[in-house]
Amino acid sequence: SDVIVLKALISVSDKTGILEFAQALHALGIRLLSTGGTAKLLADAGLPVTEVADHTGFPEMLDGRVKTLHPKIHGGLLARRDVPEHMSALKAHAIDTIDLLVVNLYPFEATVAKPGCTLEDAIENIDIGGPAMVRSAAKNWKDVGVLTDASQYAGVLDELKAEGKLTEATKFALSVAAFNRISQYDGAISDYLSGIQADGAHSLFPGQANGRFIKLQDLRYGENSHQQAALYRDLHPAPGSLVTAAQLQGKALSYNNIADADAAWECVKTFTESACVIVKHANPCGVAVGVDALEAYSKAFKTDPTSAFGGIIALNCTLDEAAAQQIAKQFVEVLMAPAFTPGALAVFKSKVNVRILHIALPPGGNTAWKQGRNLMDVKRVGSGLLMQTADNHELALADLKVVSKLQPTPAQLQDLLFAWKVAKYVKSNAIVFCGGGMTLGVGAGQMSRIDSARIAAIKAANAGLDLAGSAVASDAFFPFRDGLDVVVDVGATCVIQPGGSMRDEEVIAAADERGVVMVLSGVRHFRH
Ligand code: 5GP
Repeated sequence: SDVIVLKALISVSDKTGILEFAQALHALGIRLLSTGGTAKLLADAGLPVTEVADHTGFPEMLDGRVKTLHPKIHGGLLARRDVPEHMSALKAHAIDTIDLLVVNLYPFEATVAKPGCTLEDAIENIDIGGPAMVRSAAKNWKDVGVLTDASQYAGVLDELKAEGKLTEATKFALSVAAFNRISQYDGAISDYLSGIQADGAHSLFPGQANGRFIKLQDLRYGENSHQQAALYRDLHPAPGSLVTAAQLQGKALSYNNIADADAAWECVKTFTESACVIVKHANPCGVAVGVDALEAYSKAFKTDPTSAFGGIIALNCTLDEAAAQQIAKQFVEVLMAPAFTPGALAVFKSKVNVRILHIALPPGGNTAWKQGRNLMDVKRVGSGLLMQTADNHELALADLKVVSKLQPTPAQLQDLLFAWKVAKYVKSNAIVFCGGGMTLGVGAGQMSRIDSARIAAIKAANAGLDLAGSAVASDAFFPFRDGLDVVVDVGATCVIQPGGSMRDEEVIAAADERGVVMVLSGVRHFRH
């Protein structure tokens, strides 16, 4: 179903390159149809062109708001050439097919980018008939070629000259580009309009971002006080994700509160037992499981009481009064849990600054934590985005590969899995010492693994925690044996790491030499 182009409709606001293109189409024997301004430009250059108004028998009206919105135009674009009823309907109503559409839209984006643009200017630059035609042509892409950008003229012309028609592949690509353009255009309109305040002032952060995110709130400032910021949520947020939380009390959440609360919540909801995660500066500084909130919190706090000051505390279980009283002894910025007893809430009633978030676990409870994860991770880079699927990998006992001569005990395997779960949420390079269902030392965000190991050990010593017999997780492989030596020197007796280093053999031999257990996870958890 390649299109032999007989008739082209040209209606462009940006007239760059259009005369040359129209001349070339004319030279190929293609009849030209055009709207007022475009028709005048072509006619002035001596090209035979029919004005749309003459073609439809209906004048352009309402200051150009209605030019091409007519069955003679849309019928000609939308009729399927392979459906006899469509073609007989065209015949019955004396409608000609249109095989090529060349449209670029009223310059809405450029208009609103101008300083001092009024709402009225903006509204007048919302193109109505142009997008309608583009959509008609793009929908009927098998029978119509649609050009929405001057950069497409040369390629289409080459193909028309060489083949006398447009191929299916070209028409499909043009259709996709056309819908992309329309979505961009509509996105710009909705961004602009939803960013206007009732008083006519503009917000730096529009109400919607690309139509895919909805603004929840402006934030007082960003990561630092000289930065402005806003919080958005996905159009369809995952159940159990941070943006679904309800704030029960406390000051407004800050940018850093939200980022840290997310880190704490993402980590705590991966545990099936009652768990507590305390986050500071995007890293867990204490993670523990226990029989209830009180035990989980108390153990998590012990890891690093200094850092826990002013921390973000997340629980995956009910916060009861006993746990609340214990937590209330420390300075806490944000406290989040899936449920609270009235007694627990009463404890914080007088602490009006503490932000308390009620957040539901994903349906299915915390065993189904993956359902509440984002599918995509996005990171901003200079004038671009990095996108990846989220790191939703979950390690099972059966995935572990023991590579040391020494075999792990069941208790060591539990500790290793616990340490691995935590290491996933610690910024790389991550070294996490654990034992008895709690973190004992966390080394985060260092440029060398050995420094992370040293820092984790120093922090354990500062907190008065004994690393003898501890389990340790490394989020990526040990490039040399030196990192392993550091963790064994301070008392670790079992180690989990991805493996895959050029020096795996040397590192495994070192584990055997030191008489410790080494287990490979086979997966890496960089987090930057
Ligand atoms: P011209 O300069 O040829 O008079 O107008 C070209 C512009 O009009 C193009 O940007 C095209 O998208 C737009 N246009 C075509 N038909 C209609 C219509 O029916 N209503 C509106 N508002 N714009 C149209």
